[in-house]
Amino acid sequence: MFGALIYDRRLFLSKTAYLQIKRKLEGNNLMEKFCQSCAMPLNTKNLGSEQDGSASMMYCELCYQNGVFTNPEISFTEMLAVGKAGIDQSSSNFITKFMLKALYPASLKRTTRFKNAH
Ligand SMILES: [Zn+2]
Repeated sequence: MFGALIYDRRLFLSKTAYLQIKRKLEGNNLMEKFCQSCAMPLNTKNLGSEQDGSASMMYCELCYQNGVFTNPEISFTEMLAVGKAGIDQSSSNFITKFMLKALYPASLKRTTRFKNAH
């Protein structure tokens, strides 16, 4: 949903690496296919990175780089604002954006990072 914000790095992955990541993602359950920090859908080109440089299977690249959160202090309310701004900047149409923003607080509360936030 934040397509406009994401630099497409698919071109820099070898086909083997791409397929390995795709298989890993497909092996995980549905919940884990959303970033567990910002609730953005994960795909092969927006995964965060672990300390050893491997792709994170839990977080997107906007939230998580080299094994740490890019914004460790962010609150639930702040993440809501960031997520809604991201939706606004996506290429979705007005109705889709409206729906995504309406559903976003509930999605964010389902993430492991914010499930205890209120
Ligand atoms: Zn994220």
